[in-house]
Amino acid sequence: MDAKRLSRLHDLGITPWVLRHASAAQPARPRPVGESHSAPLAVALTVQPTLAADARASAVAAMDWAALRAAVRDCTACGLRAGCTQTVFGVGDEHARWLIIGEAPGADEDRQGEPFVGRAGQLLNSMIVAIGLKREQVYIANVLKCRPPNNRDPKPEEAELCRPFLERQIALIAPKIILAVGRIAAQNLLHTDTTIGRLRGTVHRLGGVPLVVTYHPAYLLRSPGEKRKAWSDLKLAVRTVQESGQ
Ligand code: URA
Repeated sequence: MDAKRLSRLHDLGITPWVLRHASAAQPARPRPVGESHSAPLAVALTVQPTLAADARASAVAAMDWAALRAAVRDCTACGLRAGCTQTVFGVGDEHARWLIIGEAPGADEDRQGEPFVGRAGQLLNSMIVAIGLKREQVYIANVLKCRPPNNRDPKPEEAELCRPFLERQIALIAPKIILAVGRIAAQNLLHTDTTIGRLRGTVHRLGGVPLVVTYHPAYLLRSPGEKRKAWSDLKLAVRTVQESGQ
C-alpha cells in the first residue's frame, strides 16, 4: 500500500495490518511521502470506532444541502435503514427562522418520506399557524432520519450516529430558534435525562441557537388538557425570537 493512502487511512482512524509472514506483525505506520517502503500486504482493516466517527462527523460538517441529502439517503450506519421504507430528511424553508425538531419518523412519515404528516403532524401544523407562520415557512426535522421498528424510542447509539446530519442541517439553516417537540427530542438534543416538565419554561442553547422545549403533538392529542402549557411554550419561543431582535 502506498504511503499516501496509508496516511489518509490513518487520518480516518483506520489501521491496516500486515500478514504475520511479512517482515513484521506490527501495524504498518504511515510513511512520510517520499520515504522508501517495501509495500507490505494489507490483509485486514481495523477501524477504531471513535476516530472513524469523528472523521465521519467532520466530513458531514463540510457538506452542502445536496451532499447532505445524498449522505442521509445512503446511510446505513445504525442498521435502522434496513427496516424502514425510506429516510426522512426534513422539510421546509432552508433559511427558516424556526427549526422544529421531533423524535423520529412514524408509519405515515416512513411511507411519505416527510416528517410530521400524520395526525400529530396536523396538530403541529395548527401550532405553527398559532404562532403566525405557515408550515412552508419553518423547517421540520427529526433526531432520527429512519423509522425505528414499531415506533420504539431511538437508542442512544442510533441518535448519536444520526446527530451529525441534524447538526449540519442546523448549521446550514442557521435558525433563530429551535423548538424541540417531545421528551425524546429534547433529551437527545440537550444530552440530558432531565424530565420534560423541568426542561420546559427555560431557554436552552444548542450550538449557540436558543432552544425551547414543548410537548410532542402526539402527547397533546392524548392529553388535550396540556395544550395550554404548550401554548405558553410557544409564546416563550416567540418572545425569545423577538428579544433577539431578529
Ligand atoms: N413524530 C415525530 O417525532 N416525528 C415525526 O416526523 C412524526 C411523528
